[in-house]
Amino acid sequence: MPRDDAGAVSVRLPDGSRRTLPAGATAADLATSLGPELARDAVAAEVDGELVDLGRPLVDGAQVRLVVAGSEEGREVLRHSTAHVLAQAVLRLYPGARYAIGPPIEDGFYYDFELPGGRHFSDDDLPRIEAEMRSIIGEAQPFVREERSIDEGLALFADQPFKREIIEQVAEAAGRVDPELAHEVAAGTVTTYRNSETFVDLCRGPHVPSTDRLGHFALTRVAGAYWRGDERRPQLQRIYGTAFESAEALAEHLRRLEEAERRDHRRLGAELDLFSFPEEIGSGLAVFHPKGGLVRRIMEDYARQRHVDAGYAFVNTPHVTKSDLFETSGHLEWFAEGIFPPMELDGQHRYYLKPMNCPFHILIYASRQRSYRELPLRLFEFGTVYRYEKSGVVHGLTRVRGMTQDDAHIFCARADLADELRSLLAFVLDVLRDFGLEDFHLELSTRPPDKAVGSHEEWEEATEALRAAGEAMGLELVLDEGGGAFYGPKISVQARDAIGRSWQLSTVQLDFQLPQRFDLAYVGPDNARHRPVMIHRALFGSVERFFAVLLEHYAGAFPTWLAPVQARVLPVRDDHGPYAAEVASALAAAGLRAEVDPASEPVGARIRRGRLERLPYLLVVGDDDVAGKTVGVNARGAAAPERDVPLATFVERLAEEVAAKSSPEAVRRR
Ligand SMILES: [Zn+2]
Ligand SMILES: [Zn+2]
Repeated sequence: MPRDDAGAVSVRLPDGSRRTLPAGATAADLATSLGPELARDAVAAEVDGELVDLGRPLVDGAQVRLVVAGSEEGREVLRHSTAHVLAQAVLRLYPGARYAIGPPIEDGFYYDFELPGGRHFSDDDLPRIEAEMRSIIGEAQPFVREERSIDEGLALFADQPFKREIIEQVAEAAGRVDPELAHEVAAGTVTTYRNSETFVDLCRGPHVPSTDRLGHFALTRVAGAYWRGDERRPQLQRIYGTAFESAEALAEHLRRLEEAERRDHRRLGAELDLFSFPEEIGSGLAVFHPKGGLVRRIMEDYARQRHVDAGYAFVNTPHVTKSDLFETSGHLEWFAEGIFPPMELDGQHRYYLKPMNCPFHILIYASRQRSYRELPLRLFEFGTVYRYEKSGVVHGLTRVRGMTQDDAHIFCARADLADELRSLLAFVLDVLRDFGLEDFHLELSTRPPDKAVGSHEEWEEATEALRAAGEAMGLELVLDEGGGAFYGPKISVQARDAIGRSWQLSTVQLDFQLPQRFDLAYVGPDNARHRPVMIHRALFGSVERFFAVLLEHYAGAFPTWLAPVQARVLPVRDDHGPYAAEVASALAAAGLRAEVDPASEPVGARIRRGRLERLPYLLVVGDDDVAGKTVGVNARGAAAPERDVPLATFVERLAEEVAAKSSPEAVRRR
């Protein structure tokens, strides 16, 4: 006999309450029953832990959470759905185009295409594609989910080789899918979403119910990308875009993008003649030009002095090694993908470019017997390492194939670990602050749940020592539970830049593994053999990446102590040239970096150029200055010049500003 509520479904909501709906009710019906606001804002649902379309019928007893447009997950659904609209628009506008994958990414989405005849997109194509997308959105096309067999999928995409390859991978993978393709397919099944008679895409969903739920989107740029990130595969044309839940959220995001674009270190690096990536050398391998090299040298010299003062011993190690070293260290086992292919030498030995300095420093430690009196032993090197990064992820100076780490390895007795970590973290933060970064938080990564070397007590003790050191800094400490490497816990310093972006800079990584693998020891006061604890520590991270972070943080306007040219002297007329040279020499004599820009062009043009170069000071000298031994001071960013400043006064002021690691802007704020 049927019960009264036969045919009804009852679902549980996140607040623990239950809701009963008629049989066949969908997540969209649930949203409607909960009020007009949710009906408007919901874009998908999580049912028993799985994200699904709003149109999916609910099953009795399910745990259901609605995903709203403005949440991170909701934005992902909007962005991913918009990517489908982009694909449809491109296929309409470029008959014969092939489409590959279109996942959501941080802050947006992309879609990869291969255009007929090897054509390329340019930024000028974007408005036309956007217009086509708006018309698709206006058509209010539904996203209709269909499940298919592998063979049906292959037939449906008969003339779409990229889709076929993904489906074939599903067929072969039997349970494992390349994470890069996870948005397109789930293991073992082929699901497609149809928008219209002519457009269907391979996808696992979920999507918004209909294209008219979209609209606050923008296409941002085009780029080349290899299929599956593999440079031996076809090069595809990528279009990036973003989408938000409201016009305001989109506008705010575009404003931030514009600001980030203005500060992009790759662009500033070229404009300010700091560094480049010559084709002839290869992807991800930078050369620093004289001005960039100068900034870099000042950074390094300063860091060197600070390390001397903090009791570090300086070492040097080679760039290549026999494979034996990385076999002992384990790098060939668990870091193989990041290592450049080996060189065969002497017919028998394989040599590798080093991806890390650690094992080299360990050999220095192990070169003789160590006593507890030598600990903590802090070995430091500007060590250049090479890592094989896929060409798709190489990015300016922030993701490179060759870089110089300001790398230290500290060998310390277990009993001294807490003290060492506290002083180490204080040192790291102090140096970073000198470079003008002020807004930090720390992240503590603890023992991974599955496998880890070292005993539970060791982990406990070390993690507590890291936590105590972190807390002593008085900064926010975010816990990354289980996020540590298998060989030890880690604390990382995250710095917020001038436009609010967080960068991971320094890392302090404890290591229980390498001392064991290399059987490191020291002789204790008890005359017995003890195992030291090892700390890996990079302060800048890499010099290249830190350079890029500073360049973007300052938008190219380096503080005076780091600026390649601190003051440029502009004689108004040719006959003011000798005095301009005198001014430059007076500055040079005080250890300051000055140069003369001769009067071959009008002063106005030379001032504009100096401003574009973000020089801290432009000193204009004319008749009165020659007579009175003064300079006209144009400080960077100042509304008006300051006239008739006695030369001696300016030299003194500039020297003070450099010593204080200040800038014209900061001096004005004071
Ligand atoms: Zn999709
Ligand atoms: Zn290391």
